[in-house]
Amino acid sequence: MNNLKLSGRKPDEARSVIEVGGVRIGEDFLVIAGPCSVETEEQTLRTAEAVRDAGAKMLRGGAFKPRTSPYAFQGLGLKGLKILDKAKKETGLPIVTEVVDTRDVSWVGEYADILQIGARNMQNFSLLREAGKSGKPILLKRGMYSTLEEWLNCAEYILAEGNDKVILCERGIRTFETYTRNTLDLSMVPAVHAESHLPILVDPSHGTGILFMIEPMSLAAVAAGADGLEIEVHVDPKTAMSDKEQQLTPEAFRTLMRRVADLREFMAERAMAEADAAARGDPAAREGVLGSRRDPFADAMD
Ligand code: PEP
Ligand code: MN
Repeated sequence: MNNLKLSGRKPDEARSVIEVGGVRIGEDFLVIAGPCSVETEEQTLRTAEAVRDAGAKMLRGGAFKPRTSPYAFQGLGLKGLKILDKAKKETGLPIVTEVVDTRDVSWVGEYADILQIGARNMQNFSLLREAGKSGKPILLKRGMYSTLEEWLNCAEYILAEGNDKVILCERGIRTFETYTRNTLDLSMVPAVHAESHLPILVDPSHGTGILFMIEPMSLAAVAAGADGLEIEVHVDPKTAMSDKEQQLTPEAFRTLMRRVADLREFMAERAMAEADAAARGDPAAREGVLGSRRDPFADAMD
């Protein structure tokens, strides 16, 4: 991939670590969870407490919703941001929220710890430039019709403004398959790690749109080496004003988090065993039978 001056990864370059609210993204595994939309103070606060208690490190919630229909709920705007601020004060969770308009970047940035740029705006170049100028950490979701190269070029727009805090998020693409809301392209996790130094999260909620797939796709994302997850959780999904069919209950989210933690623990143990075996010169380590190598450059450097 040519011309990725800032987002591309040179063979000897370390992955970026982006520190937000005490979380070292790219190093610490990050789970961002919360409702699709901020609806009421009660709904947001109760969801925030539930996701924090289950182990999420940041709260998500849309105050500006990019909806397919202009007649659908568009979000509470400033009122929603104030609710998120209150949830942050009560739970200590940093806030991730979407900005959809260049004119809103600076003031939404006063409430957000991470500004999200959604799939529909991935190639909104003036929004990307403004997000770059804001200096805020940016969560850049993959456009639903975008290639990896197009996506990384959008990250490049932000980086070129002098903002090096870009986090990518795979959220599924449109394919001929209609069973799922989108086709979650988990191959982008190792692809991003090979081509870029930027961290990559996976959003299995929009990526599948189907409740029973969110946990297995979360585990698959972890196995693929994702730096974290973004998951929709609602204290009472059946009353949700957007994406009601894909928001997990707090109970389901707790179970998912427990299984994610188990898998991560297993992977860490195996990676440690492999590193020990490699240090001893055990050939089993080279064959990779003790655990999987997640860094594509590690093999290249052997
Ligand atoms: C969201 O995360 O709230 C959202 C709208 O997702 P996407 O932009 O990936 O559709
Ligand atoms: Mn949603």
